[in-house]
Amino acid sequence: MRKSTVAVVGRPNVGKSTIFNRLVGERISIVEDTPGVTRDRIYAEAEWLNTNFNIIDTGGIELGDEPLLVQMRAQAEVAINEADVIIFMVNGREGITGADEEVAKLLYKSNKPVVLAVNKVDNPDMRDQIYEFYSLGFGEPFPISGTHGLGLGDMLDEVLLHFPERAMPDEDDDTIRFSLIGRPNVGKSSLVNTILGEERVIVSDIEGTTRDAIDTSFSKDDRDYVIIDTAGMRKRGKVYETLEKYSVMRALKAIERSDVVLVVLDAETGIIEQDKKIAGYAHDAGRAIVIVVNKWDAIDRDEKTMKEFEDKVRQQFQFLDYAPIVYLSAKTKKRIHTLVPNILQASENHTKRVQSSILNEVIMDALAMKPVPSLKGKKLRIFYATQVAVAPPTFVVFVNDPDLLHFSYERFLENRIRDAFGFEGTPIKIYARQRK
Ligand code: GDP
Ligand code: GDP
Repeated sequence: MRKSTVAVVGRPNVGKSTIFNRLVGERISIVEDTPGVTRDRIYAEAEWLNTNFNIIDTGGIELGDEPLLVQMRAQAEVAINEADVIIFMVNGREGITGADEEVAKLLYKSNKPVVLAVNKVDNPDMRDQIYEFYSLGFGEPFPISGTHGLGLGDMLDEVLLHFPERAMPDEDDDTIRFSLIGRPNVGKSSLVNTILGEERVIVSDIEGTTRDAIDTSFSKDDRDYVIIDTAGMRKRGKVYETLEKYSVMRALKAIERSDVVLVVLDAETGIIEQDKKIAGYAHDAGRAIVIVVNKWDAIDRDEKTMKEFEDKVRQQFQFLDYAPIVYLSAKTKKRIHTLVPNILQASENHTKRVQSSILNEVIMDALAMKPVPSLKGKKLRIFYATQVAVAPPTFVVFVNDPDLLHFSYERFLENRIRDAFGFEGTPIKIYARQRK
């Protein structure tokens, strides 16, 4: 098995080489109070939970007299190119600085898993100071102390979780991967052929991943797309398809590898229980979703038909209220051009980050519009909200007592966030955390 590589990045003096030395177990780098002191070694082997991995102290990569920003950029680049997981280190005693934000910007673009370590949290009383680091957008900050060796276990557990053999393969490009799911005969294979046959779609290659999954790449309007696992749809006999267990398994596999899932329905036969089950898998997986109503040519239509069908879809798929619906025909190609723009939009919303400052304005406005209800004489207090993840967008709201954030109020907040930022096509998640 290939050994994974971890890189430690961060502005000077946050404690990168101190941690590096601890993890490597020998004092092989020089630690100095002066920022930017040259280290003699930047690459070593470390071990945690019986897993060996390489670790890079990017602080040791120096470019002569170049300005700080150039140095940090070079260090982050090495980390992004070399590492499977990046430890982004900040200083818990100083809070977020402009330099931290510069590093964060480079890391956002990398698509590499990032574990945020807040160093110099030398005693438990200081742990409250780590919350502000949520706003860097890398999820939960891990408080550590390099000099005292505190918190390293939890941080390393998280690092190991992101090693490639355990995680999904990282796709560090902005290709949009999507799959079509739906019960047999709704028109998935026809739809794939129609999409690929559409004007202005350039089909580049078909890459075999496993024997029964073939991905097709294409580009349209300068964006790259991959249709996941269409081989089974296009070439396999329908015998396998009709075995429900087999088709569910294949749908789940396809969903797992997708950014966007198209839930395909059949306008002619309408919605049945099996459709709901299949859509539920995509929703549960937190993927972006577009609902596709196919065979629109096959039904008698008047000006009310679309609205009536929409009402039915909304009623049957209440959990998918964020998903756009497109009505089209794979057979006549009618309205087929509306599909890819919807996939693109859903994907962009799925990976959208919002600014903490604007988010908190939205939350404060929401609070003013609809005061929080009291529960058993206790009143919910909301202090601060921040987005901690994308795909799907995930928010943490710091409150006095998470039990007081009732489902209906959470739903209200979700709707306010959706109104303000436009998250059409993607589920969003909201977690309440206690702040003392
Ligand atoms: P780097 O240049 O970012 O890699 O940072 P260094 O590892 O050289 O550390 C910079 C300074 O911070 C040194 O004086 C360290 O002793 C100090 N330092 C590192 N880790 C900790 C820590 O956990 N707590 C405290 N209080 N100081 C630390
Ligand atoms: P799959 O099992 O979901 O892959 O569905 P297929 O693509 O094999 O299509 C099932 C049947 O529906 C075939 O007979 C297709 O010709 C037909 N079909 C697919 N799309 C359309 C459409 O847009 N309109 C009509 N009228 N028939 C369609």
